[in-house]
Amino acid sequence: ADPALARLNAPALFTRSFPARAFASHKGTFGSLAVVGGDTGMCGAPILAARAALHAGAGKVHVAFIGAGAPPYDPPYPELMLHPAGTLPLGTMNALAIGCGMGRGKHAAEVLANAATLEVPMLVDADALNLLAHDTALADLLVKRGAARHACVLTPHPLEAARLLGSDATAVQRDRLAAARALAQRFGCVVVLKGAGTVIAAADGRLAVNPTGNAALAAGGTGDVLGGIVGALLAQRLPAYEAALAGVYLHGLAADTLTHSGAGPAGLTAGELATAVRAALNRL
Ligand code: AMP
Ligand code: MG
Repeated sequence: ADPALARLNAPALFTRSFPARAFASHKGTFGSLAVVGGDTGMCGAPILAARAALHAGAGKVHVAFIGAGAPPYDPPYPELMLHPAGTLPLGTMNALAIGCGMGRGKHAAEVLANAATLEVPMLVDADALNLLAHDTALADLLVKRGAARHACVLTPHPLEAARLLGSDATAVQRDRLAAARALAQRFGCVVVLKGAGTVIAAADGRLAVNPTGNAALAAGGTGDVLGGIVGALLAQRLPAYEAALAGVYLHGLAADTLTHSGAGPAGLTAGELATAVRAALNRL
């Protein structure tokens, strides 16, 4: 194979920064994460992300819902703390994962604008990326944040990347490395361009292609699970590029393990993936 690509996707690159657990650690050691999203009718997305974050080792996980009609708690995961957005002070968190199922409404845009002014490490996905693509004031806030070197990870799929670049998905797919690099430079942040052969690019030129994962991941909700994993690693104080590398590797590894055991490639669910993250992490 191409030696340059081998260098870009060497497993060691992805696994070296996994956090170890010290004997005298406590839940604060592993940080608090708030998943922000879930407009009315889309509560499942942030819940999937939050469940994955618990299994990826975050100390405490909150969900802040944008819309009405959110459940008071998540029965199979009562460890999660659920709030209406606006009542949870996001500045007190160790990391934010914002955008899943968030919708593109006025309240969502306000919550995103507020989050962008905080110094808290932040992952931006899904509708938060779509809001950014259509609102230059919001995009400017992100650029300013990038210039101040506050940790930020964007996780677009090819269509979301195309919206941000003012391009189309076919053009993004034609040169995925260039698209990821262009976005990383524009926002001064880390970009995870999702899809088969996920690309991770940093504003300083660092670049990698994830070697794990398979077509079992082509199913609804798996992107939310990735957001929860990377959010959990940011909460555990991994720097943005390391959190992105380790998170995509772990997400793909969990999918590969499930697929080998017969849970894929057809019919793998995002919920199963969220659960499998734990075994994959503890094996590394
Ligand atoms: P999203 O498009 O936001 O739902 O995210 C889908 C997730 O599944 C991302 O992490 C993608 O990288 C991953 N994914 C989707 N299709 C594939 C594929 N064919 N091979 C590997 N990973 C995939
Ligand atoms: Mg998505």
